[in-house]
Amino acid sequence: MKIRKNDTVLVIAGKDRGKKGKVRYAYPKDQRVLVEGINFIKRHSQARGAVRQAGIIEREAPINVSNVMLLCNKCNHPARVGFRFLADGKRVRFCRSCGEVID
Ligand SMILES: [Zn+2]
Repeated sequence: MKIRKNDTVLVIAGKDRGKKGKVRYAYPKDQRVLVEGINFIKRHSQARGAVRQAGIIEREAPINVSNVMLLCNKCNHPARVGFRFLADGKRVRFCRSCGEVID
């Protein structure tokens, strides 16, 4: 997947469009990422025992990777990501706008 944990991404679609955040979790199987401070949803929860409080809890929900773009830490632009192989055969991501290797 083009986006990984700890990447900084820009949201390009949905209600949080234009916001930036850090990827807290990546779910490659679902093509989704959980981004800090993005896509808050309200959960209405009932009290269960002493631990869970009743009420409305706001928390982040994962969003689809197609709704975010990786922010390049070299040129500081939302980057289209490409893949490239190094001399040792390792596959790395690179930024298509400045050409720098990202990881
Ligand atoms: Zn770049």
